[in-house]
Amino acid sequence: MPKVVITLPAYKAEGTLAKTIGDIPARAADELILVDDASPDHTVKVAREMGLHIVVHPENRGYGGNQKNCYTEALRRGADIIVLLHPDYQYDPKAVPLLIAPILAGDADMTFGSRFAGLGDPVGGGMPLYRYLGNRTTTALENLMLGSRFTDMHSGLRAYTRQCLLSLPFLSYTEDFSFDTQLLADAVTRGQRVVEVPIPTRYTRESSSIAVSRSLKYVAESLLYCARVSAIRGRRGKRSPVTRGDRSAKLLASARVVERPCALCGNRDQRVVYGATATGAILPEEYRCTTEALGVHDDIIQCSKCGLLSSLPTVSYDELIDGYKLMVDESYLLEERGRRELFGWFADALAGYATRGKRLLEIGANVGLFLDVARAHGWQARGIEPSKWAVEFGVEQYGVDLEMGTVEDLNEPDRCADVVVMMDVLEHLADPVGALRRLRPLLDEGVLVLSTVNVNSIHARVRRESWPWFIRSHLYYFSPETLGQVLSSAGFRMVDWETVPRSFHLSYVAQRATKSHPRLARVANAITRAADPELPVGMLGDIAMVVARPR
Ligand SMILES: [Zn+2]
Repeated sequence: MPKVVITLPAYKAEGTLAKTIGDIPARAADELILVDDASPDHTVKVAREMGLHIVVHPENRGYGGNQKNCYTEALRRGADIIVLLHPDYQYDPKAVPLLIAPILAGDADMTFGSRFAGLGDPVGGGMPLYRYLGNRTTTALENLMLGSRFTDMHSGLRAYTRQCLLSLPFLSYTEDFSFDTQLLADAVTRGQRVVEVPIPTRYTRESSSIAVSRSLKYVAESLLYCARVSAIRGRRGKRSPVTRGDRSAKLLASARVVERPCALCGNRDQRVVYGATATGAILPEEYRCTTEALGVHDDIIQCSKCGLLSSLPTVSYDELIDGYKLMVDESYLLEERGRRELFGWFADALAGYATRGKRLLEIGANVGLFLDVARAHGWQARGIEPSKWAVEFGVEQYGVDLEMGTVEDLNEPDRCADVVVMMDVLEHLADPVGALRRLRPLLDEGVLVLSTVNVNSIHARVRRESWPWFIRSHLYYFSPETLGQVLSSAGFRMVDWETVPRSFHLSYVAQRATKSHPRLARVANAITRAADPELPVGMLGDIAMVVARPR
């Protein structure tokens, strides 16, 4: 049987707590956790007398902050189903078995109780009319934005599967009331199955009713958040990481056939989508991540069965690996500040996901700049990197925990990391599925974060064979679909796909374009004498950050 944990985010609940607990049906839960948000009354004393598992905040954090601790504590204590129940007796605790029934039946990842779906009469039950109307209006607007059809999106009676909470970056949400909306909107737009359950409700005098000004702030924040996620991810189901449509290069029926087993599905029938533009041996500089040989590539082929795009390299994988080992790339640090900012964005994204500990392992860490940033964000960060120069430079310059190694000769014990990070590495590997399978046991329940080129980006579709990310050291090109399949066959589940907001200073771009586009570089250099603006190249959508959890 799954372990059911009821969490109670409490603030000044001394008067209603006993009644709430008393009404929870026997055997409805295996454990009760109360998180007290520094209540000035006797909430903690009452909870202690009732034998609850208690977490006390030394300072008041707010309703969202309270829930963050409710959920991390429940996850830490091995909960399979986590229930949110307000200890202010606003929601009927007798509804808990009804609430978790769809989850137990395997039909939902998240449920919430609706006070407007048929059972009872909320206004007759004491809900103020302005609150009733406000709720119905904002729910209607949020439905419109998210493409959902719920009747009550502001319910505080909720239940989640463990997997659902692990898939959402709930630690990054607000500490305030709109935490509820952020979590629901993310669940809906990230492919979680959300089910509404009718529940009775009533307003009693003890129930916490937030003040009008705070209500308005809550409504504004909630609507803004829904607008933002629907703009980024599309309406419900349409663009969640799992289901959005593939618009990358389409297979040409007439194209040249290449016999080569697909790394993902094993199918041997591959077609040349874009012919090679490169000739001869790979130059040492093509191994750098600041290479100027952009858009210079071997034959780009696509599997006729699963659609995975790869390149048909003219050199052996051993030669490529030797190239990475000998790689020296001093120009990588020209944009150190920009890279640090970007890595800070990664570290912030990462911090949204609940993990047991803070052990971070980076594969292909280059000189260790991200390790340095991650360490400042509280991670015990270490990394491996094939380039001897990069390892020596990183250890010397930043004092990071960095060793020479590749994912192929990885020798790490199982469950040694809470987070594995792999930035712009997967597309360079001969066997991406095999590499991810090797990383899978390191993680237990942790988080895999990777970034890779997105062949489904607008830029890639417009530029076709001259897309700059078609380079000779890239052996694979992923779309959300094919990467989802790669992750899935390695034992992972993709929970997020986001465009990486990279930007570079014009001076840096000009310097890098000196050889390939000398005239453009001269013009750009002339501009930088007056100003050196940052170019938001991330808007092209070329690089995606992907978050995955073990299945
Ligand atoms: Zn295939």
